[in-house]
Amino acid sequence: MLMLERTGETGGNSKHSSVFSNFGGHRQAESAQWAYPSYPYDPNNIVEYVLDCQQMTGDPDLLYAMAVEGPRCIDWMNDKAGARWVPMNPSPAGNGLLEWEGMSTPTNGINVNLIPLQLLEQAARDAGVDIRVNHDVQTLVYDGNEVLGVKVETGDGEHFIRANRAVVLTAGGMEVNRAMMSKYSATCLQGIANIATPPNGTGECIRMGQGVGADLAGYDSTGAFDGGVWWREYDEYETMMQTHINKDGNQALRQPWLRINRDGQRVPYLSTSSTSYPYSTDAPPSSAGLCDTAAVEMSQAGGKTFCCFDSKFEQLGLEKGTFVNNVTKWNDACDLGIDYAQTYKYPTEWLFRIDEPPYYGAALGGHVFGSKTGLRVTPQMQVLSIDGKPIKGLYAGWHTAGGSSGDGNPSGKPLTGMYADLGLAFVGGYMVAGGILAQDGRNTE
Ligand SMILES: Cc1cc2nc3c(=O)[nH]c(=O)nc-3n(C[C@H](O)[C@H](O)[C@H](O)COP(=O)(O)OP(=O)(O)OC[C@H]3O[C@@H](n4cnc5c(N)ncnc54)[C@H](O)[C@@H]3O)c2cc1C
Repeated sequence: MLMLERTGETGGNSKHSSVFSNFGGHRQAESAQWAYPSYPYDPNNIVEYVLDCQQMTGDPDLLYAMAVEGPRCIDWMNDKAGARWVPMNPSPAGNGLLEWEGMSTPTNGINVNLIPLQLLEQAARDAGVDIRVNHDVQTLVYDGNEVLGVKVETGDGEHFIRANRAVVLTAGGMEVNRAMMSKYSATCLQGIANIATPPNGTGECIRMGQGVGADLAGYDSTGAFDGGVWWREYDEYETMMQTHINKDGNQALRQPWLRINRDGQRVPYLSTSSTSYPYSTDAPPSSAGLCDTAAVEMSQAGGKTFCCFDSKFEQLGLEKGTFVNNVTKWNDACDLGIDYAQTYKYPTEWLFRIDEPPYYGAALGGHVFGSKTGLRVTPQMQVLSIDGKPIKGLYAGWHTAGGSSGDGNPSGKPLTGMYADLGLAFVGGYMVAGGILAQDGRNTE
């Protein structure tokens, strides 16, 4: 097996992340008798739950395969690849948020999984995988019937590499490529304020698949949390978005209590615990709540949400009247002790006048961890052509594959998508390997 990486080190965006989100079914979850949405772990139940979140737009066969293979992937990684996935906290639900033991600290927001990814790389090398960095894959080699290999740029020129069995594309999504996003994820794009994935998610390997006739799946879907900050304007067809990976910095504006949209409407507040109303401030944060809040922020008029204020509100894109009227309205409600919102009224103790400078403002939107639009795949992760036929010799794993979050799912509900993002990348790779072994009649254990 040969692995090609365009940069000088492996690990991509995955090295920054921390949590392997899952629904249970792995050994640790079983011993705690925990599964989501309910115990015992039942792939059919999970497919029904996930499809409901996706408004039935997803592929039930693919989701079922994911629900079956995900727990196996976790156990296999711990048993065979030297991984140390352990529950994030001692509660039974901690089994749904696995962390690499000892790697996450209260202060580190990035590079949490740098060492784990290096250990996994070493485990792969020890098992005989030939890993070559600084190998930029430029295109697939295709004879009109079968993908035969790739063309790479290595710094000393172009080289062609012949694949013995197949080419597997696992090169991230397209989230920073605005030209691709405007075509395949246009509604999400206007709600995205920040991308967390530099310098990854550039989309060219998805285009390589399209170049040999591949179909796409998962239109207009991303995996996003709330509180992304809009840093600058972009040209319509820019192929890169400015990216910020200080997770905490970019989500510092999570849940400001007063947000309005371009038209001056109050933006609904959801508790981070995901219980929308009445508000609960002492429940633990839940990814579902963060995800739903992202969808709320991403779907506002004009695509952005505005919070707090200072004298430079025009720089945020707000009109002066909208700004002044809303602050006046808010302050009047505070004096009255009754929120002016028709629904989801704030409790009286949240009604603080805005009359004490300094004031700060920001334009907010989705903080995106990965696009969910990508190459359409079978449950064995073979890439499908636009006429629905598996393309010989071509497989893809997430986030180069698409479809894990259905269509029109701006934030990837639930949990930024099944297995969220990091877990999704691992499960995808595991499923590709299993799919190829199964097709070849070989033992997947
Ligand atoms: C700060 C931060 C925190 C996060 N926290 C979490 C979290 O807790 N849980 C979670 O689920 N997700 C989290 N995420 C998101 C998650 O890390 C990513 O979405 C996920 O890891 C992406 O995996 P991937 O395999 O799709 O892409 P990557 O990990 O980016 O891997 C793609 C690789 O392909 C290479 N590549 C691309 N194009 C080519 C080419 N043409 N030729 C050769 N190589 C190429 C890239 O260089 C890269 O190494 C976080 C992200 C950030 C930035």
